[in-house]
Amino acid sequence: MRWVLASGNAGKAQEFMRLFRGFSTDWSSFDLVLQSSLGVEPTDEPFETFVENGLRKARHAAQLTGLPALADDSGLVVHALGGAPGVQSARYLKDRGCQGLLDDLLSRRATVRDAHFVCCLVFVRHAHDPDPVIAMGRWHGQVSDAIKGEQGFGYDPVFLDTELGLTAAQMTPDQKDARSHRGKAFAELMNQLRAEKAFLLRPEA
Ligand code: IMP
Repeated sequence: MRWVLASGNAGKAQEFMRLFRGFSTDWSSFDLVLQSSLGVEPTDEPFETFVENGLRKARHAAQLTGLPALADDSGLVVHALGGAPGVQSARYLKDRGCQGLLDDLLSRRATVRDAHFVCCLVFVRHAHDPDPVIAMGRWHGQVSDAIKGEQGFGYDPVFLDTELGLTAAQMTPDQKDARSHRGKAFAELMNQLRAEKAFLLRPEA
């Protein structure tokens, strides 16, 4: 059984491999392949919400590969920036970097540093699936006052988990998975898919 992961983001892919491995041996006969390794170019993400963009990505990957597809649309929502960078997180990071986010908050003299990560997972059994499986996860914290830590990817060095007092980049992979938006969305997705596992493993039946 093969699914395509509708992403070219190596950091995300690494987390998914980890999450699937840790989930259950029942899924061991199952293979998750990156769309980039099948020659699929990323689609555009024109929408204002994670869920709409996630659906777009999943359908695109399923259409071009003929495989069931899992998409992750995620990003960082910073409250003092009216929710930005949000669905534009990848673009913002490319243009401004983590330091750019710290500078933006500084230039606005933002006293509230609250932020949350969002992860929307969308699974489609095929490109025209009328019943996509959708799971959301959120991770609440703050934008840190400086770049800290070496682990992870993206905004991890500037996202502070206030309960642990660590940035996501200072956590072990297990610590991050247990608390993260992606870990939560993944658990919720697996919960929803458990009921139809037999069907998923034998899609032709
Ligand atoms: P997407 O590929 O359009 O979903 O872009 C999501 C962007 O959000 C990524 O490029 C990362 O910069 C950021 N992001 C999403 N999840 C995480 C995470 O777990 N840690 C750090 N940054 C993340």
